[in-house]
Amino acid sequence: MSGDEKCDIGSRIASICFSRRLHKTMAESSLLTSESKDDNSMENNKKPANENYILIDVGANLTNKKFGRDLDAVIQRAKDAGVQKIMVTGTSVHSSKEALRLTRIFPGSLYSTAGLHPHDAKSCDETTLVALEELASNPECVAIGECGLDFNRNFSPPDVQIEVFEKQVELACRLKMPLFVHERDAHEALLAVLDKYKARLPSVVIHCFTGTREEAVKYLELGFYIGLTGYLWKDKSQDGVRKILEDGVIPLNRLLVETDAPFMYPNTRASKLPDNIKESLTEKSLNYLHRYCTFQRNEPCSLSVTVEMIAACMNHTPDQVGLAATYNALKIFGLSN
Ligand SMILES: [Zn+2]
Repeated sequence: MSGDEKCDIGSRIASICFSRRLHKTMAESSLLTSESKDDNSMENNKKPANENYILIDVGANLTNKKFGRDLDAVIQRAKDAGVQKIMVTGTSVHSSKEALRLTRIFPGSLYSTAGLHPHDAKSCDETTLVALEELASNPECVAIGECGLDFNRNFSPPDVQIEVFEKQVELACRLKMPLFVHERDAHEALLAVLDKYKARLPSVVIHCFTGTREEAVKYLELGFYIGLTGYLWKDKSQDGVRKILEDGVIPLNRLLVETDAPFMYPNTRASKLPDNIKESLTEKSLNYLHRYCTFQRNEPCSLSVTVEMIAACMNHTPDQVGLAATYNALKIFGLSN
């Protein structure tokens, strides 16, 4: 991406932020799909769009069979809730192919990733990396991952996870594509792999961050981005992600938001939520959450409620957080066609 393009995204988002003339700005940006452009041209007897956020869900598992029956409704609801684009996570060759197939059904709205999840590292054979590379050559595929290390559950042996992760890091470096990384209880080992490639690492996103302050600081020092999900709602620890946000450890220019749907349901009814967070949640976001999402099946339309919580923790407005995260997602992944 050139400096000019960066300025272009910046000025688009700045004008959204400050003028709130969303109709005009959104129509000028690439954020609108053709249908919603039509909506705008149909004009004025509709509620103005400027009550909506402009969000990008950088990680949703829409190939999960829980979305098999009503994916079009799920995507429409997400758009109505302000989620303009969704990146569909690939976690195996099969689901990465499926994710790419979905991008063809919903062009301009869905993008995909290609990767092998650490849980399935043991299934990697000589065809896997070839297949992932082939998938990654499609313009709708915008990152390598989800890949990484999970020493919490160790569904694959740690040494196999490390080997398979390193192959995917190597692939991302070679293809100059962003890395979408999963890490649980494997911070040091993850850094050891990435360190070998530090001279040519692409953008690295630590997705669904659940670690400690020290780990966040280290990732940020290395220039990585932090993806936050509905995990925030169950994070009760004194030094967890919520506290890190309150203390300003994660700057807006390193933040991404994702639902990890159908997982990571934002449990806004959890007891002991601080009043400032409860008060910051809008009726509209809560309506989407409570009408359409459950513990069994979270949906991308719940993203706004998590953005509102992040904003409350950071003492910013939800618009500031949402637009910053959207800017970051466009900068890292492109998502232009
Ligand atoms: Zn993950």
